[in-house]
Amino acid sequence: MKIICPHCLSINNVPKKETYKKANCGKCKNSLLDSKALHVSSDNIDKIIENSEIPVILDFWAPWCAPCSMMAPVFEEVAKDFALKATFGKVNTQDEQFLASRFKIRSIPTLCVFKNGKEVHRVSGAMHDEQLTSFVNQFLD
Ligand SMILES: [Zn+2]
Repeated sequence: MKIICPHCLSINNVPKKETYKKANCGKCKNSLLDSKALHVSSDNIDKIIENSEIPVILDFWAPWCAPCSMMAPVFEEVAKDFALKATFGKVNTQDEQFLASRFKIRSIPTLCVFKNGKEVHRVSGAMHDEQLTSFVNQFLD
């Protein structure tokens, strides 16, 4: 399955397994298990969405939004738990107004879920870690 490296954004082909002991990026050699939320912009969003064969969870947020700031550490933590299972990314709607309008974001935070290049679900409002974990779990194959 195709996976975007969280460190250098190159496309890796990783065998699909239940658990992984080790999986390194073919390009930058960093561990793909060392997952984190990607900084998503109009330059890389299509590459990320179209080349991830695992669900992509995008958090549309803004620096002035208090619920967004509350959810930010939760999002980072949960991203680590889903290494090689789901890709997490953050879109700063203040910097990326084009993306906010392209995806018709009306309130923040909004989480959009993409599978195989297509948006399959979205939800608005901040979540705590258990909510976010079970939210993401429902999109895993
Ligand atoms: Zn890499």
